Amino acid sequence: MNQRFRAHHILCTVLYEGKGYSGAFCENMTAVTERLRTNPDEAFILAAEPDLICAHCPNQTETGECSQDHNRVVDKDHRVLAGLGLTEGECCSYREMCEHARARITEELFDRLCGTCEWRMQGLCRYEDLTAGLAKICGGCGEPGNEQNES
Ligand code: SF4
Repeated sequence: MNQRFRAHHILCTVLYEGKGYSGAFCENMTAVTERLRTNPDEAFILAAEPDLICAHCPNQTETGECSQDHNRVVDKDHRVLAGLGLTEGECCSYREMCEHARARITEELFDRLCGTCEWRMQGLCRYEDLTAGLAKICGGCGEPGNEQNES
């Protein structure tokens, strides 16, 4: 049974460099991103609910919601799914998720998806780093923003 992968974490895991939060969350996030970058063909079920990263997040409530911003993170997942041309419940490898992101992302779309996130506002998540990270995972083919997005 494949594990769930929360849609907006596609972007977060590409950009993650070990900063933000602390303790168990960071340790788990580091382990997950290393696992994804080492084995990008591992498949997951795309979701708009808690996943393997949320499991160690200090903001997750007992009922599995995010205590930040009234659980608006679910909206973000749906906007990322639409923006990247992906579907909730779909089985997808991490590489395929990143290929969708690479084909559709533009700086304008990235701002619409992530513009109000505290990490983006603090300057930790930069468009240039996102496109470079996606290129690394996807390999040589394609360029950012070549396909029309739907969001
Ligand atoms: S801005 Fe926030 S949601 Fe977007 S990639 Fe960075 S940490 Fe993730």
